[in-house]
Amino acid sequence: MENLIFEERADQIHRKGEKPYQMSCDRDSLAGAVSQRACVFCGSRVVLYPIADAVHLVHGPIGCAAYTWDIRGALSSGPELHRLSFSTDLQEKDVIFGGEEKLHRALTELIDRHQPRAAFVYSTCIVGLIGDDLKSVCRKVSEEKSIPVIPVESEGFKGNKRAGYNAACRAMFQLMGTGATDSISPLSINILGDFNLAGEIWIIRDYFQKMGIEVVANITGDGRVADLQRAHGAALNVVQCSGATIDLARMMQESFGTPFIRVSYFGVEDMAEALYSVARFFEDRDPRIMERARDLVREELSTLYPKLQEYRKALQGKKAAIYVGGAFKAFSLIKAFRLIGMRVVLVGSQTGTEEDYQELHDITDEGTIIVDDSNPLELSSFLKEKDVDVFVGGVKERPIAYKLGVGFCDHNHERKEPLEGFVGMLHFAHEIYTSVMSPVWRFVPRKSSHSGGELSSKAMGGCTRLAGLSA
Ligand code: SF4
Repeated sequence: MENLIFEERADQIHRKGEKPYQMSCDRDSLAGAVSQRACVFCGSRVVLYPIADAVHLVHGPIGCAAYTWDIRGALSSGPELHRLSFSTDLQEKDVIFGGEEKLHRALTELIDRHQPRAAFVYSTCIVGLIGDDLKSVCRKVSEEKSIPVIPVESEGFKGNKRAGYNAACRAMFQLMGTGATDSISPLSINILGDFNLAGEIWIIRDYFQKMGIEVVANITGDGRVADLQRAHGAALNVVQCSGATIDLARMMQESFGTPFIRVSYFGVEDMAEALYSVARFFEDRDPRIMERARDLVREELSTLYPKLQEYRKALQGKKAAIYVGGAFKAFSLIKAFRLIGMRVVLVGSQTGTEEDYQELHDITDEGTIIVDDSNPLELSSFLKEKDVDVFVGGVKERPIAYKLGVGFCDHNHERKEPLEGFVGMLHFAHEIYTSVMSPVWRFVPRKSSHSGGELSSKAMGGCTRLAGLSA
């Protein structure tokens, strides 16, 4: 294997079985290592922007605002204000004389033109440097226009993406506790940490509604300001993904006493367990709720399992690599790959915690590489070493896979197919199958440490199609 690992990063990589488990994580990225992590501003933007009836104004140079709905396609069932990108487009003159006046003008114009239910104003690096007083401008416009105008303290240099999640949670928390809650059912939840990519939150809401549960607020996919304002009236917060919205769940527990549970909607086991955990929580209030959850799972699995078996036959023994933002998603993906007969040989995350990596170590097979806050060189070298058939990641991992002639599955915010829920598992199996078995690999030699860049026999073998499944 080529040695592409920086000495200072050696303790953030573990090969299961080679030595006793120990890993470092949750620290600043190493200078020069070109981390896959996004900046603080990007972290806050990804959490907040699916709130579809709010104006999202990026206070900074136009370049920061390039991070738009087109990259992160959260769907809305109603208003679509979140699809528009607004920026104060700070120029040299604004940097010298300050951008507060421009921000005030931009906010006033946007609110008059779009009549939003609230406005979020994101602070970028340069705003942190020149010291514009976002809070006072937001307060002033809020009084003038009588809507919440909320500053998001997301200067890019303040930490990593995780700090951006926290800034987003603090911004949303300012809305909570301000709406009426009288009509909310005792069997009610908020869905936290789902961004409604390809309509996924609609699948999950439908499951909960079939169990007789009211969903008060989507936080944040297909989100609405008024729902956030009454979210404190829900009986339970159901939190997906370890990083993005867990801070909000903790704030709500502390201030409103709302308990939370952590779930994942990816893969059969975790999806079913998510429904059962919610049912267990409400069993005292509704003794028949568990029965309804079981009926729902049974019905979904009766159609899903026979179809999955076909994919399993075709994919048996193939190898997968996973690199995701929050490690929580990786747990579900490992189980989902097992269900379709595949082995995970590399797994990593941008922002995993000590507990996350311990759990990854517990559930992975011997020889699996576990990595924290990786970079393109490391990932390429691991993919080549393990000669993987498919790489699961996000927008920044896609080119790494394609350059190596490896199949890719987007499990991040660019995806167009819902991968959550029982139906999502079927889509996932189909996508993995079509990527691994695609005839394109006949013409694109997979680069691996074993093949030396030549067309590997495995890549050729991957072209065999299974009757009845279309690639
Ligand atoms: S690091 Fe700073 S300048 Fe770069 S996108 Fe993030 S906020 Fe903008």
